[in-house]
Amino acid sequence: MAVVAFWLLFVAFVGAFAAQVARRVQLIAGAPNTFSTDNLRLRANRFLVDVVFQARTIRERPMAGIAHALVFWGFVAFGAYTLTEFLRGLGIVDLTHSGWFNVYRVMLAPFAVAVLGGILYLLIRRALVRPVALGTKVSLESIVIALFIATLMTTYLLTFQLAEGTMAERVNWWVHMLVILAFMALIPASKHFHLVVSPMTVFLKSPELGNLPNLDFEKEQVGLETVKDLGSKSVLDAFTCVECGRCQVNCPAWGAGKELNPKTIILQTQEALLAGTRDRKLGEMYSDKVLWQCTTCGACENQCPVGIEHLPILIGSRRGLVSNGDAPDYLGAMYNNLERRSNIWGLGYDQRAKFVQSAGLETFDPATHDVLVWLGCAGSFDADFQKSLRSLFAILRAKDVRCGVLAKERCTGDPAKRTGNEYMFQELANGNIEDLKASGVKKILTSCPHCVKTIGNDYRKFGYDVEIEHSSVFVEALLRKNSAALSATGSAAFSGPRETVTFHDPCYLGRYAGKVDEPRNLLTRFGADIVEPERNRDNPYCCGAGGGLLFADKEEEPGSRISDVRFKQLQATGATTVVTACPFCSIMLKGAQASAQADTQFVDLMTYVKDRL
Ligand code: SF4
Ligand code: SF4
Repeated sequence: MAVVAFWLLFVAFVGAFAAQVARRVQLIAGAPNTFSTDNLRLRANRFLVDVVFQARTIRERPMAGIAHALVFWGFVAFGAYTLTEFLRGLGIVDLTHSGWFNVYRVMLAPFAVAVLGGILYLLIRRALVRPVALGTKVSLESIVIALFIATLMTTYLLTFQLAEGTMAERVNWWVHMLVILAFMALIPASKHFHLVVSPMTVFLKSPELGNLPNLDFEKEQVGLETVKDLGSKSVLDAFTCVECGRCQVNCPAWGAGKELNPKTIILQTQEALLAGTRDRKLGEMYSDKVLWQCTTCGACENQCPVGIEHLPILIGSRRGLVSNGDAPDYLGAMYNNLERRSNIWGLGYDQRAKFVQSAGLETFDPATHDVLVWLGCAGSFDADFQKSLRSLFAILRAKDVRCGVLAKERCTGDPAKRTGNEYMFQELANGNIEDLKASGVKKILTSCPHCVKTIGNDYRKFGYDVEIEHSSVFVEALLRKNSAALSATGSAAFSGPRETVTFHDPCYLGRYAGKVDEPRNLLTRFGADIVEPERNRDNPYCCGAGGGLLFADKEEEPGSRISDVRFKQLQATGATTVVTACPFCSIMLKGAQASAQADTQFVDLMTYVKDRL
């Protein structure tokens, strides 16, 4: 009788679970396929670190992360226990009296205590502490799930107290099993669906941060216009969100008071998919204003503990808007510059030629040069940044590095790519690749982190694979190799006065390329005592220039300017010297400094090194 009743309940609850899962699987399977399993080693490694060891969950919020990890590990540990009890309840086989099960059951006790501790901490945090990232409303569903988990652990622990065959033991068993069944039915319609899908989402996350595959114009791809254009990975992402708000609190646009909230983007996507509004325009759904507030800094994707990728949705939607002629006016002007003059400022290349000549630079020749220095738009035309390039060339000459430059450069296409003008990006990229190939370049060095990303990652998608390094990485390795005259630690070789400085990690260097030690090694080697700003290393706060926002009319933006927020964070370190390593960070932060009328001194990393070499 009890077995029949359990079967009926099992079929009802598992049926409810399966129907909801089937709906989501249908939506994922029906979306254009964007799943990829390249680079298996990296994916397996990330799975181990982020899923098994819960590293990303713990990193930013250690206490909440550890509490979550305890619950997760407890769930995994209880897997075979739950299965065994189901087999028994369904009358299939009773293994609960076998020797191994009794040992295993006892071994689960510390896990149960850990899960209880973890879930209690999470419950208090969610219901009473309520950090801003979790939203203003207390989620009833989260409270119910927490109580379910606490009940499961308590009923398990009670099995050690209750004698087998007693009424109390039977009631305890039924409570335990009914809670599991109710939990299953609740999971797919809640954020706890991540229990089922997040291991897959983490595994399927692109190895490349901010991965934006090329559009194939021959297949008439134009980007994302409506909900039905969203790729399968984005649809899976939408059903994986655990609503933790890590993306939100790390987003510089949200932090500066703008409307963009990456968590909202994911939840809006989920809502639209479940509502079946397949023809809804993404520009309207997310609001085109919001879509243009993203700097492409990558903080959202990088912080998300469950492998969600926001940029394919944000930039994919920008692509859809651009293909319909709906880009903001300031971008129209920048596109015009790129189209007519192949650089973002629309300046004549005679200016670049004058700089090349005055800096004594030679045209690259593989027979006589070791490395090609890519100037970039800033290096070609921005007088301030040209000073830092002169410093770089002075260092290279002092260390006998033979370098040359291309006779002609176009913009790499980074601003076009990140703002969704894929056609223009491909035009620029193909022209540059042709010239680089014709010049026989094997290694490129540049002071622009955006150029590193674009040439190093985006050009590879055209089959052009070249080694490219940011100047901080190249020079640090060069000086380390040439350190015979310096002491083993380096800094002791510098005999000048020590100085307190702060270093602003550019997003495309620290977060995208993971190069956080090299700039610091150079600074300390040459007498700097570094004070770290809030948000540093591989999770810096953006300067506000990326994603084409260098060109935005800042006066019209709501909230503070991102660059103002960052400048205040740098000022708060107390250091009067800020070292940067990206031309766009330098432009933005100097603008913020001028507005604040502060006397902070900005120095490019290469100039800092050259002046002390
Ligand atoms: S990439 Fe940066 S600016 Fe854009 S949504 Fe993510 S965190 Fe916000
Ligand atoms: S997208 Fe990721 S980081 Fe953002 S709320 Fe969802 S799970 Fe958290």
